[in-house]
Amino acid sequence: MVSRIRIALDGPAGSGKSTVAKGVAHKLNYIYIDTGAMYRAVTLKALENNIPVDDAEMLTRMMEDTEIVLRYERHGNESVMHVFLDGRDVSEAIRGLEVTANVSPVAAVAGVRQALVSMQRKMAEQGGVVMDGRDIGTVVLPQAELKVFLTASVAERGRRRWLELREKQMEVDLAEIIAQIEKRDDYDSHREVDPLRQADDAILVDTTEMSKEEVIDYIVKLALERGARIEPSSVDA
Ligand code: C5P
Repeated sequence: MVSRIRIALDGPAGSGKSTVAKGVAHKLNYIYIDTGAMYRAVTLKALENNIPVDDAEMLTRMMEDTEIVLRYERHGNESVMHVFLDGRDVSEAIRGLEVTANVSPVAAVAGVRQALVSMQRKMAEQGGVVMDGRDIGTVVLPQAELKVFLTASVAERGRRRWLELREKQMEVDLAEIIAQIEKRDDYDSHREVDPLRQADDAILVDTTEMSKEEVIDYIVKLALERGARIEPSSVDA
């Protein structure tokens, strides 16, 4: 049994994937790979270059000279992920409302997905990863040792996203956030290429009534059952 397993974490917008994935990776000393950030970086580049977000041909061509690198920095006890787009740190810029509103059509383009999926598979080659997204268990890592599909009611997912934005001092309307989440889920679930879907062998976890710690502990327990070992951290080593 391998000890550096691959954990695939999928689910709709606001289901808590990134918080949970980060927490699980921290506990196991694994690498956390946020694939949504990669689709967001591509969207930012398209917007900055005035490429229409539904122009599949131009977006596919754009991917030929697009470099996306995830780097990790230690901040005390925490490992913080930074996203570099063609050498520039775009970690903040990709979280903006305009990118969020435009990412789904970009992520529906086959040429964009092919390029990013192949980068993601390379990143997971060594194992010891927690990868979150929409198609990780179904397409990117169909052989992952553990697959989890996170969900929560749309009202709860909207409330979480609203709180997150409020913490960043952004004034947003809860009903509008819920409507945006529903629109994005609908788009992501109904696109032709690699739609958001629970893999047949994924474990469904409804987080509506669970705390973040409960979800993290549950997934760590599942990972240990599947053979994961807590890796010594590079700081302890
Ligand atoms: O996870 P996050 O909300 O940052 O993802 C942004 C968007 O990127 C999603 O709404 C979806 O359109 C796209 N995405 C995807 N496949 C993934 C990860 C994200 O299509 N593996």
